Amino acid sequence: MSAFEQKKYRNSKQRARILELLRSTKVHPTAVWVYEQLRKDFPSLSLGNVYRNLNILVETGAVQELRFGSTFDRYDGDVRPHYHFICENCSEIKDLSLDHDLLMNSRVEELLNCKVNHHRLEFYGLCDKCVARA
Ligand code: ZN
Ligand code: MN
Repeated sequence: MSAFEQKKYRNSKQRARILELLRSTKVHPTAVWVYEQLRKDFPSLSLGNVYRNLNILVETGAVQELRFGSTFDRYDGDVRPHYHFICENCSEIKDLSLDHDLLMNSRVEELLNCKVNHHRLEFYGLCDKCVARA
């Protein structure tokens, strides 16, 4: 294997592990979290590698990127349409077992005479633990 092929192989191996990790967790982690989980197994891993691999996974549709304003981007290995609850105190992100309302897409299409591809919905507030502490 050439040095270039070796590097490519290592990258795709890292990417496969990142995907595996994201699919196995419900925490909607940041890139830094992913980096900290994997650097024991991949001593040559850098945070830049993690970002690059995450971007490729997002571009290929294997992973969903969640952008929440000023906080760090979070990543979700579950790309099925689903809604989220975000705690404004501790930043925990939870999946909601609410029906994904496709009717809203047609309503918006009627309102704007447009074509909707998808929609996202986020609920903000205090999670159960933060409510209990308040
Ligand atoms: Zn909370
Ligand atoms: Mn999710």
